[in-house]
Amino acid sequence: MDGTGIADTAPVFILLGPPGAGKGTQARMLEDAFGLVQLSTGDLLRAAVAAGTQAGQEAKTVMAAGGLVGDAIVLAILKDRLAEADCAKGVVLDGFPRTIAQAEALDDMLARKGQKINAAIALEVDDVQMVTRISGRFTCAGCGEGYHDTFKPLQVANTCDNCGGTQMTRRADDNAETVMSRLAAYHEQTAPLEQYYQVRGALYRVDAMGDITQINTSIATLVGQVNA
Ligand code: AMP
Repeated sequence: MDGTGIADTAPVFILLGPPGAGKGTQARMLEDAFGLVQLSTGDLLRAAVAAGTQAGQEAKTVMAAGGLVGDAIVLAILKDRLAEADCAKGVVLDGFPRTIAQAEALDDMLARKGQKINAAIALEVDDVQMVTRISGRFTCAGCGEGYHDTFKPLQVANTCDNCGGTQMTRRADDNAETVMSRLAAYHEQTAPLEQYYQVRGALYRVDAMGDITQINTSIATLVGQVNA
């Protein structure tokens, strides 16, 4: 695997956690606060599905069932994105890696330029509440800002607080049945990554059950310290 477009001293952060843990919300906040690029493999795959590419067609059924898309497809999509110029300033990975093979491939990619990840931040949450969190979430189609019916409602009905957009979308896989499959995939294939990063001295844990702003403060403090 080739290297990335990430500049030599630019940081690479990973957000780990089950679906609904708040990885996307927190990654967007880090993007704004630290000038990083948020890379969500879920978003990249959804874009591939919408564009009807070969990879998108292969990923579509697996995503609808709540399983994990094959490593080869995910790695190819991520590698293309990491080669883009904006990634030079550093990235926060949201939803990647999800398997040990993906983590090893990322380490290989970075090692080609003498780089390694700065930190893998595990968002610690309670599974039971993830179903509630996921069931109520929606996104502004215009700017991608995430909301939740209960935990982060719009300030003005049908209007994005961030960009004023009026079109909101809900993900097809954010239903109770698919969420259970996604949680199972997380525990079977992704949770072992905590151990992977722990033995490499790169794992940091954050309690992610409280208020979004407080969680962000904990993560931003951690990122600031690791980045110093
Ligand atoms: P997310 O937006 O991160 O919740 O991802 C939505 C769906 O995309 C997941 O349920 C998987 O089917 C697929 N997906 C996203 N990222 C990955 C990944 N790193 N490896 C495998 N599948 C992924």
